[in-house]
Amino acid sequence: MNVDEQVSAIYQQVLRRNAGEPEFHQAVSEVLESLKIVLAKNPHYADNGLIERLCEPERQLIFRVPWIDRNGDVQINRGFRVQFNSTLGPYKGGLRFHPSVNLGIIKFLGFEQIFKNSLTGLPIGGGKGGSDFDPKGKTDIEIMNFCQSFMMELHRHIGEERDVPAGDIGVGAREIGYMFGAYRRLTNRHESGVLTGKGLTWGGSLVRTEATGYGLVYLTEEMMKNHNESLNGARVLVSGSGNVATYAMQKAQNLGATVVGFSDSSGCVRTKNGVDIELLREIKEVRRGRVSDYAKESDDAEFIENGCIWDIPADVALPSATQNELNLDHAKTLAASGVKYVSEGANMPSTPEAVHYFKDQGIFFAPGKAANAGGVATSALEMQQNASRDSWSFDYTEERLRKIMTDIFKRSRDTAAEYGHEDDYVIGANIAGFKKVADAMFAQGVI
Ligand code: NDP
Repeated sequence: MNVDEQVSAIYQQVLRRNAGEPEFHQAVSEVLESLKIVLAKNPHYADNGLIERLCEPERQLIFRVPWIDRNGDVQINRGFRVQFNSTLGPYKGGLRFHPSVNLGIIKFLGFEQIFKNSLTGLPIGGGKGGSDFDPKGKTDIEIMNFCQSFMMELHRHIGEERDVPAGDIGVGAREIGYMFGAYRRLTNRHESGVLTGKGLTWGGSLVRTEATGYGLVYLTEEMMKNHNESLNGARVLVSGSGNVATYAMQKAQNLGATVVGFSDSSGCVRTKNGVDIELLREIKEVRRGRVSDYAKESDDAEFIENGCIWDIPADVALPSATQNELNLDHAKTLAASGVKYVSEGANMPSTPEAVHYFKDQGIFFAPGKAANAGGVATSALEMQQNASRDSWSFDYTEERLRKIMTDIFKRSRDTAAEYGHEDDYVIGANIAGFKKVADAMFAQGVI
């Protein structure tokens, strides 16, 4: 079999075995495409069913999460944890609470996480979890009831040497707090290293809150520097207005950019002179409001209900909301308006057609598994602080994050060049992430 046939056979098996999971298929297909280049040069990576093993999670957990709402009625959600690959270290990856969550989405996120975590250079494996629970509109007590019930099952499967969840969409400091409290009571252990994203007085790390957004901007700045440009003076679009988006906007503006648009699922906000980050944080983090509230309270902003953020002219786009939010039509609009750099803050926000279009148009594109790795990298730094009972300063931690992001960019760039695909950071990130895990899997035998 030639390489194309080999990879196609593996992909067909993934399709058969994981029917009805389009996001997982999409994530696997993109990585397998890059691996053809590796297999052509290093055929031994196809030995011992290595790629087939990589596409099959080590363990998949699905569980019932019953809880009682404010009316005293019983609600039932479904919980997931996919422990995908622990070759490099304990499973590590966030928990997502969103009504769209299903097994296929958790598997796509877990699969991506393996390569992302490998790229950070830190000893962490890949996993992901969550629930189809919708936190929107719930009271604090309902959120707590849900988190406690979720942890009632999850606590059996996690631990600082086993699996260390963190936040993701719908899971922030509040939810991590409730889950940590439940874990502590259920296990009678204050095991700091079992969750990351904790509060600062009970084992959390400075910079973790900001890390994904800051890291995204550091990597973007490094990519622009590589092409003799910088964020200073650039117009930037950031989709979403959650954890990743907020701190990406803050860091981009600190580096001299003007954020000209941001969004949530109800529409987008267009700004002329940048975003008032403190006002946005107050609305989103304290009041748990909407971006339309921001537009009402700012003289400089206009809310476009159901509007598409990608219609706003810019130089740099940072999709930071959710998967497949940027399609081919959006990519065409961005290219026509002159966008030259796209960096993914979210996981797989660009469809494959959009990514191909960016490449064809010479738009430099950094995939999520490289560009948003700052969150998990800082989670691993939180684990290091927990293990040594230490807490580092903001500046020291941020400098570690900055260096990790610079290294990820360089590793992706150099690997792409080594395999004859200069400036293709998708190929570079996929191959660099893959080789480290694959070499370790060989060393550890067929298990
Ligand atoms: P949050 O829940 O804090 O924010 C998500 C934001 O995206 C909200 O503004 C939400 O708006 C918006 N959004 C969600 N779905 C849609 C949609 N269909 N259309 C438009 N906007 C939408 O999540 P995070 O910021 O933590 O995560 C965002 C992305 O970044 C996800 O893909 C996540 O996997 C990824 N990521 C997160 C990391 C982290 O450390 N938090 C680490 C690495 C990746 P609304 O409120 O209206 O739903």
